[in-house]
Amino acid sequence: MKFHISVTAILLSLFSTSISGLPRFFPNITSIPPSFLPNITGAGWQSFQKLAGCHTGEKADGLARLKDYFHHFGYIPNSASLNYTDDFDQALESALKTYQLNFNLNTTGELDESTLQQIVRPRCGVADIINGSSSMNSGNKSSSTNGHFHTVSHYSFFPHRPTWPSSNFNLTYAFLPENQLTDSVKAIFSRAFNRWSAVTPLTFTETEFFYSADMKIGFFSGDHGDGEPFDGVLGTLAHAFSPPNGRFHLDEAENWLTDEDVGTSAVKSAVDLESVAVHEIGHLLGLGHSSVKEAIMFPTISSGTKKVELASDDIDGIHELYGSNPNFNSSSSTPSSQERETSDCGVHSLGPLWVLKTLFVAVASAMLLMY
Ligand SMILES: [Zn+2]
Ligand SMILES: [Zn+2]
Repeated sequence: MKFHISVTAILLSLFSTSISGLPRFFPNITSIPPSFLPNITGAGWQSFQKLAGCHTGEKADGLARLKDYFHHFGYIPNSASLNYTDDFDQALESALKTYQLNFNLNTTGELDESTLQQIVRPRCGVADIINGSSSMNSGNKSSSTNGHFHTVSHYSFFPHRPTWPSSNFNLTYAFLPENQLTDSVKAIFSRAFNRWSAVTPLTFTETEFFYSADMKIGFFSGDHGDGEPFDGVLGTLAHAFSPPNGRFHLDEAENWLTDEDVGTSAVKSAVDLESVAVHEIGHLLGLGHSSVKEAIMFPTISSGTKKVELASDDIDGIHELYGSNPNFNSSSSTPSSQERETSDCGVHSLGPLWVLKTLFVAVASAMLLMY
């Protein structure tokens, strides 16, 4: 018992030391003080823009960082050395072609304009390709050989299809107390959960007991102890772990928008909170990324846009994991009624490395708690 308590204390201290401050929320873009709006050209991955036109055989400053980007999201497999060079080599060309396939771009293997525009968009930190497999477009090529991947829909799952057990479909969630979220911000997460409970047998209830909740939501900055440090404004926006881990982390450095109507704006450094929340909850429930641009589980989201309604692809995917909500009428969710915004949401994609880390952390946590 004493050991259990001490382990809990250690875990608590780990969490508490990784917090750096309070997240910032704004009802809309015009309410953001100019001092919080960074120079967009220096934020996130904008520096990749200078690599336009680069192709195999060339050498250019920034290609090593681009390789690191592709490695993070699963497009360059783990190698003995992660000290990438600035050479545009075959590995990078191969990664680019797979990326272009996943994002419905022409598979040129070059850094053309449309590919770069997609690469620099803010996104989910979860990888697109995990353990070398993906059910985004690139994974569909494998379907003809092993039948494991989906050929019609483009939703995907984590390796081994982890889900919440049927004995625990009534899930609880809690917010990191140190973030001191207001009720109105918490209500945004509640709306996001409701979108998933409306189509599944799952229910989600907020609890004040953070450390015993099934799902733990927190805003963190930089390195926060799980091997997936946040990168400041834009870039990766958030990430979440596969079931039954339950951790959902958001980048504290973003300018989070809380209005129901984000609208459009020339300001590109603010992100709609509910859009990101709906996407990350999909991961918490076991969905991976989708190549369907209209899907919530598409890896990127444009700053300043809102995309919160589940697409038929999302619904098909979650139904395969949990079945439908008896009250859900699928005819009311035809493609024509889905979100029509062409937001390239800058949500995250987690890669193979991410999943491995996730599994490791989950197993380690489980072992600790068994004592
Ligand atoms: Zn994290
Ligand atoms: Zn994601």
